[in-house]
Amino acid sequence: MVRDDGERSLLFDLDMAINQVNRAVPDHPAAVALTSGYHNLLRRWADASRPFIKVDVIVDLGQPNNRMAYIPRDERPVMRPIPNLLRLIPAMLGVVSIVLGLLPVPVPAAEEVVLYTARHYGQERAFEAFTQKTGIQVRTLNGEAGQLFERLKAEGDRSPADVFFTVDAGNLWNAARAGLLAPVASAELVKNIPAHLRDPENRWVGLTMRARTIMYNVKKVNPADLSRYEALGDPRWKGRICLRTSGYIYNQSLLATMIKRDGVPRTEQIVRGWVANQPIIINGDTKILEAIAAGQCDVGLTNSYYLARILAKDPNFPVAPFWANQQTTGTHVNVSGGGVAAHAKNRAGAIKLLEFLSTIEAQQMFADTSMEFPANPKAEVNPIVKAWGPFKQDDVHVAAAGEFQAAAARLADRIGYK
Ligand code: FE
Repeated sequence: MVRDDGERSLLFDLDMAINQVNRAVPDHPAAVALTSGYHNLLRRWADASRPFIKVDVIVDLGQPNNRMAYIPRDERPVMRPIPNLLRLIPAMLGVVSIVLGLLPVPVPAAEEVVLYTARHYGQERAFEAFTQKTGIQVRTLNGEAGQLFERLKAEGDRSPADVFFTVDAGNLWNAARAGLLAPVASAELVKNIPAHLRDPENRWVGLTMRARTIMYNVKKVNPADLSRYEALGDPRWKGRICLRTSGYIYNQSLLATMIKRDGVPRTEQIVRGWVANQPIIINGDTKILEAIAAGQCDVGLTNSYYLARILAKDPNFPVAPFWANQQTTGTHVNVSGGGVAAHAKNRAGAIKLLEFLSTIEAQQMFADTSMEFPANPKAEVNPIVKAWGPFKQDDVHVAAAGEFQAAAARLADRIGYK
């Protein structure tokens, strides 16, 4: 833990800048050097109350000594100030500017909301619109869901995060359970987002919706042969199914909501049917769709927006969605969304951001860039998605994805679904 506010703020700025470089120019050598500098600073400034400290792990930043050692606190040499590292920070940020062609001139104290986000589906337009409307800047830190979750936990009440966005209700549920999100009483959110897509305790709210349904090769499968998720256990599909691993959160949440809906024994029976058909396990929704198109399998289960994105580039891609369970409980849906961080420094701004993102205007931007369904049913879906026609969604509360996550994992283990 870095205790000094100024040092923490410098690290945060540097980290954000490194993330920007990595997104703009993946694997740029400058980003590697900056990351090395970031970690060296982090080690230097990290919690001085620990009895042992790691010293001299300096890589290539003008430090004479590259050895690694643990030295008890009372034996450690007097730590000299590290003027050369401090002096390097502006230089590091300067390199970022050059690499990006941007000049990060420090903005004088405009109101801002700091957002940790694991959504990778395009959201910048909505943030720009928010800034235009409110004058509040949105500073984002992008990362993987698990990584940001751990970071928020580790930062505790010193976290600069005001808002946390992530994908899948299972992840939102875990964040709420870990105490990382604070409840928000907002009539605007209640008005805009249906009850089954937001936390009953108001700690998170779904901002986009996605369907996880059956995808099929239009040249090889007659949709009249498709019906429910469980029908993929019919022997006719033996060797013809592509599935993602059971441990991936999207499938875990699908099984978890099935458990909520049908109970463990029935869900187990359904998944046993899939496994008996010897599915090809592929780790990636897009890869599953490509495998279906290539004829490696004929049907699979993926999130809807992955197909929409492929179709936006290739309208002749030979895969279509089939809305599962239309005669019964409806197609499984999930959300990406967010909540106000438990230790938000700008709680009011954070709530404003969530409320704005739930409005028709922002929901439209999400729907057009990510090809998800708007969580606000008053917003329009993208035309590519609209062409698939309306469907009945399973209105089981998406929080079930978290509540039954462990049960889903145990079920998959029990029946050998990898
Ligand atoms: Fe996704």
